Amino acid sequence: MRLLNTMSGLAAALLAPLAMAGAGDDTYEPKAQQVNDNVYAIIGPTDARTYKNHGMNANYGVITTDEGVILIDAGPGAFSGPYIERAVAEVSDEPVRWVVNIGVQDHRWLGNDYFKRQGAEIIAFEQTVASQKAFADRHMSGRLPDALGDRFEGTEPAYAAQQLEGETAAITLGGTAIELSLTNAHFPGDAMAYLPEQDVVFTGDLVYVDRMLGIHPWSNPQNGLEAFKRLEGIDPEYVVPGHGRVSDMERARRDTGDYYDFLVNTIGQAARNFEPMSDVLSAHEDMEQFKHLEHYDSWHGTNMNRTFVLFEGM
Ligand SMILES: [Zn+2]
Repeated sequence: MRLLNTMSGLAAALLAPLAMAGAGDDTYEPKAQQVNDNVYAIIGPTDARTYKNHGMNANYGVITTDEGVILIDAGPGAFSGPYIERAVAEVSDEPVRWVVNIGVQDHRWLGNDYFKRQGAEIIAFEQTVASQKAFADRHMSGRLPDALGDRFEGTEPAYAAQQLEGETAAITLGGTAIELSLTNAHFPGDAMAYLPEQDVVFTGDLVYVDRMLGIHPWSNPQNGLEAFKRLEGIDPEYVVPGHGRVSDMERARRDTGDYYDFLVNTIGQAARNFEPMSDVLSAHEDMEQFKHLEHYDSWHGTNMNRTFVLFEGM
């Protein structure tokens, strides 16, 4: 009984900040939490895109400098822009001066236009921009506008004016060094950003913790595995995943790295060996190792299926 009381007390304490954030208004209010030094992360909810979270169910980066704020990914659109600005204002007096796009998924870049109109410079790899353009029509008429309704109004695609060539690039903004590299895992053109001085990596949608990553028809788990190995080579102290809480490499490996390894080296390998797909999928339906991940039930089967089909064609 005593244990029960303690636990419910703890649960109440954990829930209290959430309840306060929701008081009076039902709209998700992002907050920037410090990761290390001048580096902050906005950790979005791990559920789906909803009207309440206005599509901010992903993580974003905020880096403060004396010359202006660097935003890692722009958010889902025009509506979220002022919410991000308010989160930024709590940790810096400077405006958002640069937006670095490391993602091609809708809620990572459709906020570009808003920040561009506020005077920010958008920076991205050429390949990221090319992929955003290829997905723009789909994103402007897909799940995001469906979920957001009137909160999607005023959102328009906009692209980086400063485009980086190749697969890796080192830039310095406001005295902060950022090493960018393409991952091409969740979407073609996705990238990650390493801040060597602060030892933080923003992985974009390469890494998911707390929730299961999703393999879309355009995702590439082989690229994911290779990019994850490069991330392990960097071995940062702080990992800001695309979704889920700020982590270390151990958790990133457990929730994502090991899963890419399973997809490629178990499912992909079985496809290459011409094993029957239905046998392979049912043999690995029950993966105790990954069941702690949110959305396991809705994604695991699909992920195996898409990986099998991809490797069958290779
Ligand atoms: Zn995502």
